[in-house]
Parts: sequence; structure tokens; C-alpha cells
Amino acid sequence: MNIYYEQGIVLKEENYSLLIDPVGYPSFKPDIILISHAHRDHYNMKVLKSFPQVLKLMSPVTRIFLDKKRNLPNVLELAEGQEVHLNKLIIRAHEAGHVLGSLQYEIILKNKRIVYTGDFNLQARLVLKPAKVIEADILIIEATYGHPRYSFPERITIYRQILECTKQLIDLGYRVNVLGRTLGTAQELTTLLSFSRLNLYPAVHPIIARINRIYELYGENLGTYRILSLKQSNNNGENPIIMPLSSKISEKKNSIICTGWALNKREKGYVPLSSHADFKQLVRYARQSSPEKVFTVYGFTNVLADFLKNEYSFDAQPLK
Ligand SMILES: [Zn+2]
Repeated sequence: MNIYYEQGIVLKEENYSLLIDPVGYPSFKPDIILISHAHRDHYNMKVLKSFPQVLKLMSPVTRIFLDKKRNLPNVLELAEGQEVHLNKLIIRAHEAGHVLGSLQYEIILKNKRIVYTGDFNLQARLVLKPAKVIEADILIIEATYGHPRYSFPERITIYRQILECTKQLIDLGYRVNVLGRTLGTAQELTTLLSFSRLNLYPAVHPIIARINRIYELYGENLGTYRILSLKQSNNNGENPIIMPLSSKISEKKNSIICTGWALNKREKGYVPLSSHADFKQLVRYARQSSPEKVFTVYGFTNVLADFLKNEYSFDAQPLK
């Protein structure tokens, strides 16, 4: 079996090939395409459309996010816990705990169990269920925060930090912006702030509200909040405001910026709230999955592979 990276993760066995999370055009026509979740760094609609005959697997929620009008041909929706038996292989979908609809894939091909984690999270959060570790013969694991520098505090500590910081800024008379990634962290922030006992009156940016609605349709209770009116005159003193991470913020002193990359920042106002596994979780996943071979993909691939090799004697290497 041949596993490598070419515009996406490629699994080839004789003349059969799988392409996972493609972001560009590969030099071959795959037999099947798998999409793990609806973040832009894991799919490319033009590429998906360029393979109308090829079967494309994704969760029903991921399909809502990237193909709402259901124009994309040959899509097979696979929810967590479901499996599909195809010609030469079995594919099982497992919860990844990263964003709504995010999947890990377990692929059984030629008596080998190959697990691709996608982006995942093992910690219990206010939203979604955490991922479970899947045992693998060959593990393809994300390495976004695959550097020991990125070890996040306990979730409860991070939540407390966000709430305390919000309260302090409101008490100082500020209208507070809390920034997080639109799909993933923003829903966790909505839940945290709307259910807090601080008597807050939160509002969310309309782009976030649209995604919140889909979370709610799938049974996540994000609490009570307003949708921010983009007309200044319609604002009724909602505070704090949950905004996309990409928002242009003129004043940083009234902002709380939530991202795992916060650990690189020394300034106040950055909080390491992320929908990704941190370094400790990545290592825990690899150890519990107990594979004979590990490939690391995305982010700190070299650092994580070296760590797994040197500290735990894994046969580990970056996917190239
Ligand atoms: Zn992601």
C-alpha cells in the first residue's frame, strides 16, 4: 500500500486509490474522495466538482456547510457510527469532536486498518462530543499543534479566564468583542457566554448566527443570545459581541481573541481556546491507537513525528 500527500492525502493499493481532504487537483483520477469536515483547508469545491463521476463521502452536516443546494453529484452521506462497504474496502465514520459534522475515517483495506483522524479534539467541551481514539494499524494523524509548546490549560481554566476577562472589561465600561473561528470555537463561545451566571447579554455576528442555527438544528443547545445588527442604530446594548476570528478589530484593548495560537502571544487578551487537539492530546491519541506506523499531516509534522519516534519508539514520519 502506498500512502502519500498530493493535493490531499492519497491511499493507493494496486490500481485503486482514495483521495482524502483534497485542496488542489491531483494528477490522477481517484476512485473515491473523503471529506473530513467543512473547514476550507480540508476541501476545495472546484476540485470536488471536477470529479462528477467519483463517489464523495462526507457527513450530512458537512454537506450542508459546503453543498447546501445539493448540486454536487455522487455524494454519499455518512454520519458518525455508520459504515459503508465498497468494492475493495470498508469505511467507517467516527466522531472527531472538532466542529459539527467533523469525522475521523477508519478504512479497512487489504486487512489493514487505516485511521485518518482529520482535525479532532479529545477534551469534553460545552459543545459536541469529544472524539474517541480509534485503534489503527496505520495512523494518519493531524499535527496542527504538534509541538510541545502548544499544551493548552484545562478547558475549565480557559472558560474561567474568558469569563473573568469579559467581566473585567464590561465593568470598565467597554463593549467587549470575543473573537473565535466562525465554525467551531464561536459556537463554544456562544454557549459559554449565554449560559454564564454573570448576567451577560451576548450577541453574535450574523455569519456566526447562521452556523449556530445549524448546530441547534442538530441538537446543540447554545443558550439565549441576540444576533448582532450590522446597523449601529439597531444595537440595544448587547455585550459581549461574539465575532469571527478574522474580524478587523481597530481597538484590541476591548477584545478577547480565542485561538490555540494565543500561546505565541505575550499581550493580554489572547486565550488558547481551540477546537483542535493540543500536543498532549495528539501524543495520547497516537499511544492509545497503538499503530505499527504513524504518518503526521498538517502543521508541526516533523516535530510530532520525531517526538513519537524518539520518546515512544513509533515508526513515525511526516506524510509527504
Ligand atoms: Zn478544521
